[in-house]
Amino acid sequence: MTTPFQVADGVFLVSAGHTNWILLEEDGALTLVDSGYPAHREAVEDSVASIGRRPEDIRAMLITHAHVDHIGSASALAQQYSFPVFASPEEVPHARREYLQQAGPLQVAANAWRPGVLPWSLHIVRVGALKPVSVPEVQAFPSGGGALDVPGHPIPVPLPGHTSGHTGYLLPGAGAVVSGDALVTAHATSRVDGPQFLLPMFHHDEPQTHETVEALADLPADILLPGHGPAYRGSLRTAVDTARERVGRASA
Ligand SMILES: [Zn+2]
Repeated sequence: MTTPFQVADGVFLVSAGHTNWILLEEDGALTLVDSGYPAHREAVEDSVASIGRRPEDIRAMLITHAHVDHIGSASALAQQYSFPVFASPEEVPHARREYLQQAGPLQVAANAWRPGVLPWSLHIVRVGALKPVSVPEVQAFPSGGGALDVPGHPIPVPLPGHTSGHTGYLLPGAGAVVSGDALVTAHATSRVDGPQFLLPMFHHDEPQTHETVEALADLPADILLPGHGPAYRGSLRTAVDTARERVGRASA
């Protein structure tokens, strides 16, 4: 269920049912990007073991954005294995839960008529979606741009909209980019596969999300590693255009 899928040298996409995390490996050391729901703590550890490493090899964690399906296990793992957790400066207060930019039970209930929303909501409650999570340990990564000094040397790509500090990570050596929830390839509440946006209720600022993904289109990468759904290989320009066309069709 959580078998890591190697997409490039030292880059693994791990899918745990309804959410993904990513492992970057460099010289035996790891960076964990996102950490699933609260119930996924052991699954994160298992995914590390299945690429032949130990959780103690995690040198750092990066957060794409501070929703419960991406930071659920972060604090517990960081405390147990003593690694630092980084997010964009804008996302740090969100990860500390000084405020919350996430669809609540009322918004989900209002969307329960949509295909897939009800079974999805029942599933996420089982994996801890209603648990209050925060990451008190989180710190801002340097905001000067350029590669971060963690295994895999990812380069932050600001993709605000889904949350105010939502960030993707370019992996230049692998020709891949972590897109978080700015652009996904599948979701339990979607009937289509391939590059797409999440439902409007999931975005803090939906128009901004649709705009900022432009930053992905011209990156030197042809692999997209989303927060939900399988890896996409191909032109990122096409991926962005496809997602935007789908929005156009849905609202037409
Ligand atoms: Zn998500």
